[in-house]
Amino acid sequence: MTSPSGGSDDGSAAQPRRLVCACCGTSADALTDGLPLTWTYSVEDGARRHYCQICSRENLRSIEGRLDSDWW
Ligand SMILES: [Zn+2]
Repeated sequence: MTSPSGGSDDGSAAQPRRLVCACCGTSADALTDGLPLTWTYSVEDGARRHYCQICSRENLRSIEGRLDSDWW
């Protein structure tokens, strides 16, 4: 039985991921597993979106605002 799929080891984790800001389009290399400390991450409409430091500040308000209205 050889099934190629199945498992969390999909792809190579050795390659650095390039993050692209969903707002302004600037890019940054993610050297670690997570995001750069200055970047934020959110899921909108089932899609993962990253925001750079500058845009995250702007988006934090709307994200938090949206969460607030979602919760209630
Ligand atoms: Zn940005």
